[in-house]
Amino acid sequence: AKARGRNGYRFYAPSMTGEGVQRLRLEAYLRRSLEKDEMFLNYQPQVEIDTGRLIGVEALVRWNHPELGLVPPGRFVPLAEDTGFISQLGQWVLREACRQMVRWQEAGLVVPKIAVNLSVRQFERGTIVATVADILRETGLEPHRLQLEVTESLIMNTGDALAHINGLHALGVSLAIDDFGTGYSSLAYLKQMPVQTLKIDRSFIQDIHEDVNDEAIAIAIIQLGKSMNLAVIAEGVETDEQATFLLRHGCNQAQGYFYSRPVMPDDLQRRWLP
Ligand code: C2E
Ligand code: CA
Ligand code: CA
Ligand code: CA
Repeated sequence: AKARGRNGYRFYAPSMTGEGVQRLRLEAYLRRSLEKDEMFLNYQPQVEIDTGRLIGVEALVRWNHPELGLVPPGRFVPLAEDTGFISQLGQWVLREACRQMVRWQEAGLVVPKIAVNLSVRQFERGTIVATVADILRETGLEPHRLQLEVTESLIMNTGDALAHINGLHALGVSLAIDDFGTGYSSLAYLKQMPVQTLKIDRSFIQDIHEDVNDEAIAIAIIQLGKSMNLAVIAEGVETDEQATFLLRHGCNQAQGYFYSRPVMPDDLQRRWLP
């Protein structure tokens, strides 16, 4: 905070200056990250619990900066959203994910589907449907191989969200609601959406055995998915007990460290695509 020193000069608390400068620097680095080829994708398996079969992968962006090292997405994705850089970054992620799928296909490897995260801000320009259509055409990926992950806040806070989501659905891609249960979506609204999958947020899975509320929420989401004819996948599954719990309650799809961390394409190939 600003304060007036005894000598009358203004000074800034070092920590504030530090943070502000750091953010500006990060922002400048981020803006150049794509042209400098510093971004890459990791892929995290999505698994059918009872068979262990690979049902898909989620693409997760990674930033390797020469000075800063690996910057976690929790730090740079929100910044990219604040600065608007997310539309460029999001397009790059989408294109790269689709390209990787085609590479796997061309190598005779079957990855049933790829899930890509879309930020709310990618919907603001009103061009998201055209962007996805262009990238599918350009890469040649079959639309049904692509799943787009959106959050409840997109659905509730974006005017025209339904029109955009209908447009994406018409392209033949599928849609998942990410972090389900953490936002507040009206169920009536959800019913109108051409959505195929609910992803139970990791926060409910984490303490499923210690917290009766989390347990109740997870079960309720599974039931909701069933009654609305939606697939339900649990994220953040780290233990055998969690997986067993989910299976017992009728959820047969999971993603989490118990199965695999997000990995490079080579690793995915070695361990999941024999
Ligand atoms: P998310 O979409 O909910 O992605 C799942 C996050 O949980 C990933 O973190 C993943 O590495 C982590 N995770 C998966 N399994 C486990 C587990 O068993 N235990 C724990 N503790 N964590 C697990 P990551 O890769 O750091 O990404 C964080 C968030 O950043 C993502 O959350 C997503 O909101 C955002 N993000 C990542 N990549 C993209 C992207 O390409 N575009 C957009 N718009 N956002 C992205
Ligand atoms: Ca996600
Ligand atoms: Ca999540
Ligand atoms: Ca998220």
